[in-house]
Amino acid sequence: MTLASPPRSHARQRGAAVSVRAVSHSYGRGERSVAVLHELALEIEPGGSIALTGPSGAGKSTLLSLIGGLERVRTGAIEVGGHDLASLSGDQLAAFRRDTVGFVFQHYGLVDVLSARENIELSLALSRMRPADRRMRADRLLASVGLAERADHRPTELSGGERQRVAIARALANRPRLLLADEPTGNLDEDTAAHVLDLLDEVHRESGCTLLIVTHDRRVAERAAVVTRLSMGRLVGG
Ligand code: ADP
Repeated sequence: MTLASPPRSHARQRGAAVSVRAVSHSYGRGERSVAVLHELALEIEPGGSIALTGPSGAGKSTLLSLIGGLERVRTGAIEVGGHDLASLSGDQLAAFRRDTVGFVFQHYGLVDVLSARENIELSLALSRMRPADRRMRADRLLASVGLAERADHRPTELSGGERQRVAIARALANRPRLLLADEPTGNLDEDTAAHVLDLLDEVHRESGCTLLIVTHDRRVAERAAVVTRLSMGRLVGG
């Protein structure tokens, strides 16, 4: 795999500050309620980069879902780029996810019946961009992750590393101020994982976005400047 050239197509933007204060979270109700996060506090400076580690079941994905507005904050407060997530309506939260956050998941989350280009265009569909501009931007993003030649290929025709690069390009479509990656290398072999992490580093550096990577992979954490560890729903330092 060739390493992509820096994604010059992204104008430099201000990364979003993330502030998590006294956040607790449970799933389910009554007797079946499971407390997953306990009184968490976490600050990420604008444009910062951190790895959140910890064993499976520690609550990492839950925290990422709360910060990304996929899950509702019910106890405590989370602010991202000046948005107080608990106070947003459903529509406002959807707009926050669309305009402020880019998501990268372990299983890529690409639509199999669409080409790589169409997957990215889909993310741009809610923007006011004209179709021709959407296509141009999708192609530029694919070029920036080294996949210009694969624009017409469907995810099933791409390797795991290539799928993850399409997913990263898609996550960048709306120039997110916060990029959230949940086990982005979980399905990849060691070399491919290293290339994907290089790409995330480049994206972070070039775009100026804030980056939060959730992982239980020690190698991912070893590369990160700031490592925060979550254990049984509590932050326990680096
Ligand atoms: P991690 O990402 O560290 O593996 P998760 O945040 O995925 O941890 O899960 C933490 C705990 O919350 C686990 O015990 C898991 O079973 C539980 N959990 C996660 N999502 C849900 C859900 N939607 N409903 C009920 N329990 C959940």
